[in-house]
Amino acid sequence: MRASLSERFFSKVNKTDECWVWVSCFDRKGYGRFWKDGRNAHAHRVAYELLVAPLTREQHLDHLCRNTSCVNPAHLEPVSLMENVAREDHLLGKRCREKLTRQQLEQEIWT
Ligand SMILES: [Zn+2]
Repeated sequence: MRASLSERFFSKVNKTDECWVWVSCFDRKGYGRFWKDGRNAHAHRVAYELLVAPLTREQHLDHLCRNTSCVNPAHLEPVSLMENVAREDHLLGKRCREKLTRQQLEQEIWT
């Protein structure tokens, strides 16, 4: 009998009182890797999808505990692409304001 996906997954997790530490493969950024559906998936994303809800490609998971080897869904917060865009808009707005300030400065110089 083949082990189920979650059995296979959680055999590679060391659950502590706080973080669930991934004990299998890691990528260069320190994120756990798990072979799922013929591809190399992020372990923390697999844990979230198994225990909480499916994720879209646009959703990124933020580690609230700052431990990239942790796969505890309680420590993971989905961050949507919309929020990323909102942050970029904020930066763009800031740049515009700085430009305005520079124009105002030039006006002060030439008048
Ligand atoms: Zn954690």
